[in-house]
Amino acid sequence: MLAHRPDFFSAVSVILVTLDSSTTAGLATILDQASIAQPAPPVDRPILKIQDIPDKGLGIVAGQAIPRGTILFRDQARILADVRFPQHVRRAQGQTLLHKAAGRLPEPDDVRNLSRSIKAKPGEARGLLEENVLSTNSFAATVDGISYMALFPEIARINHACNPTALTRFNDKDLTQQVIAFRDIKPGEEITISYTDFGLTHDARQETLKRRWGFECTCDLCSGGPDATAASDARRQRVTALRAEVVAHLQKGAFDTAIAAYEGELLRLVRTEHLAEHMGEHFEVLARLHLAAGNRTAAVSYAQQALAELETFEGVSGVRAGAVSESSSGSIQELREFVKALHGQEERKKKRKQKKPKGEKKQVKKQKTAKKNGDK
Ligand SMILES: [Zn+2]
Repeated sequence: MLAHRPDFFSAVSVILVTLDSSTTAGLATILDQASIAQPAPPVDRPILKIQDIPDKGLGIVAGQAIPRGTILFRDQARILADVRFPQHVRRAQGQTLLHKAAGRLPEPDDVRNLSRSIKAKPGEARGLLEENVLSTNSFAATVDGISYMALFPEIARINHACNPTALTRFNDKDLTQQVIAFRDIKPGEEITISYTDFGLTHDARQETLKRRWGFECTCDLCSGGPDATAASDARRQRVTALRAEVVAHLQKGAFDTAIAAYEGELLRLVRTEHLAEHMGEHFEVLARLHLAAGNRTAAVSYAQQALAELETFEGVSGVRAGAVSESSSGSIQELREFVKALHGQEERKKKRKQKKPKGEKKQVKKQKTAKKNGDK
């Protein structure tokens, strides 16, 4: 079918591999409106530098102290390929397609040099290299509800760590991806992202990294020795158990017990193991739990903290190969309303207290006493 024939469109420096021309046209419009500029290479920023990392080759390191939430740099997608396209063509056809796609880029070597396991040999299947690059270096990106493999050459150079220093955030309005400091980064510390899901235990992480990317991880979390690894795994497993416990408490309507488990243990473990891209969702849950338990002051405080986290980290992804979350601007707006409403209630309560004349208070007390006596 003609509509399913992979279609090419080259705009500025982005190559699109789509399944039909209407999607191509949609993406082209995004590119037209985005006024795409060549991204500045990370080395241009004084806060970052490229240097040799032992056993890893080149990596990006912090040139100075970088606070959590800082946008480190931004990279433009060079290839955007519909995830379904490999199913619509024969493998050799797909490779030729990708080879042509890379060839249309102003700097095809930006993409081809990303292959770590395959070196181009004359006469070798054209496109094998590009196929390898796309399968091991691309990020999941959703545009207009369609999933793509997106290739960002500068970001692809960032090495993996199970406890990374950075996160990424895809912008479907201009097809760029940002790299954001996940925590405070010290000068000389490497900028890393996680290629695997957050929360996996040591063996599960190693297995995934070996199978998908062909390397054994020697990051701080993986090389701390058997005792440290066992302790980290136990904390990760405890988080899973605790989530179930909190849900069980809630089902029984035991809000205070659920809050105690959440605040007393779950939150601490999530922070220790860096299991969440940001704390926004946890704070939001706690705000709602406190509201349900009748503690408005705590609810307001958590809702404000949730909003602050979401305003910095909204839409980030901690995972390289994972799905990019849909734009959550709906939820951030909802949270703003929630904070406003809670805040309004608190203010009204304070004002009522301030306005209440002393005499009235006494009278209420008297009435209560009278009622008590009457009950007797
Ligand atoms: Zn590791």
